[in-house]
Amino acid sequence: MANVRVAVRVRPLSARERQDGGRIIVDMDDKQVRIRNMKVDRRVDAHVDARERLLEFTFDFCYWSLDPEGPRHASQEEVRPDLGVSVLSAAEEGYNVCLFAYGQTGSGKTYTMMGTPDSMGLTPRICQVHFEIYNERVRDLLRTADHKKPTPLKVREHPDTGPYVQGLSQHLVSDYRQAVVLLEKGIANRITAATHVHDGSSRSHAIFSIQYTQASLENGLPSEISSKINLVDLAGSERADPNFCRDRITEGANINKSLVTLGIVISALAQNSQMFSSCQSINSVTSEGEGSFAGSQSSSLSGGGRRHCFIPYRDSVLTWLLKDSLGGNSKTIMIATISPSCGSYSETASTLRYAGHAR
Ligand code: ADP
Ligand code: MG
Repeated sequence: MANVRVAVRVRPLSARERQDGGRIIVDMDDKQVRIRNMKVDRRVDAHVDARERLLEFTFDFCYWSLDPEGPRHASQEEVRPDLGVSVLSAAEEGYNVCLFAYGQTGSGKTYTMMGTPDSMGLTPRICQVHFEIYNERVRDLLRTADHKKPTPLKVREHPDTGPYVQGLSQHLVSDYRQAVVLLEKGIANRITAATHVHDGSSRSHAIFSIQYTQASLENGLPSEISSKINLVDLAGSERADPNFCRDRITEGANINKSLVTLGIVISALAQNSQMFSSCQSINSVTSEGEGSFAGSQSSSLSGGGRRHCFIPYRDSVLTWLLKDSLGGNSKTIMIATISPSCGSYSETASTLRYAGHAR
């Protein structure tokens, strides 16, 4: 599997969008998504180039969830074999994995990552912790007294094991049911925590983190493969309304900072991994047997003189915490969620551009 993979999913029209006229501007086939700008379209103007009206993008997977009865429809069951299985098989091979959903509020991030009671999302098998970042502050969603706002925790970085949240609770689970109970508790606490902050969970990033350990016997000796899976339901990517109060603006600036940094980190990683595959072959010719290049993010190449892009993990709490499941020995999957409606044209275009940069 490539180090970075990108999927896009379009949800059905909402009741509200239907009421407002519900013009659908999204179309997909196989790996291509196209969106049409209706405003330009309506202008009867011979000079408007057809290319201006359509934006087209190519991704690794495209999911059409627009008409549940239609032949192209991708239900939760159909998304899971591609994305859920990719995550678990990468973890089984010993990679750290980060799967995250990006998109404006109401586009289907939580539906895709968590699901609903009768339609399960990409939920995990074994879980360790579930926590939330709001306004660059980390809160533990599994260690909070009922109806209380969890207290912020500190992020630290260990020289060997990397970034971690100090005092974050860990929960050992032995089956899927126990993992789901924890997941549900985390979701409920995220909603409670969110009632203290205006309109709720769309303003925070929720991370469900799984430490995945496989123990086996090899030639009679115990052996262990350990990897980390981070499943991330990001805050809404929509631009903040400039008329909001000061708290809301700080909040928006922090969300923006983490999403922008995440975008920079992912596209730097995608570039580095392309560079890495071309460098690796150079390396095997010039310094046989050394193998010191692999896994080192910041190494520069002797000879060719090309440097790896600097990856600004520490520019936001989100990317700092995800550091060991982004880049290095890890696989990243992004799912961009979009609305099909003409009213969301500019947010949808910006989501698809963001996702396009990650490839
Ligand atoms: P977000 O987390 O991005 O703010 P939600 O996941 O809460 O958005 O989705 C908004 C609404 O749309 C919810 O009622 C959800 O059930 C519905 N929805 C989202 N994606 C889909 C989908 N692919 N199929 C059916 N319903 C969906
Ligand atoms: Mg949500």
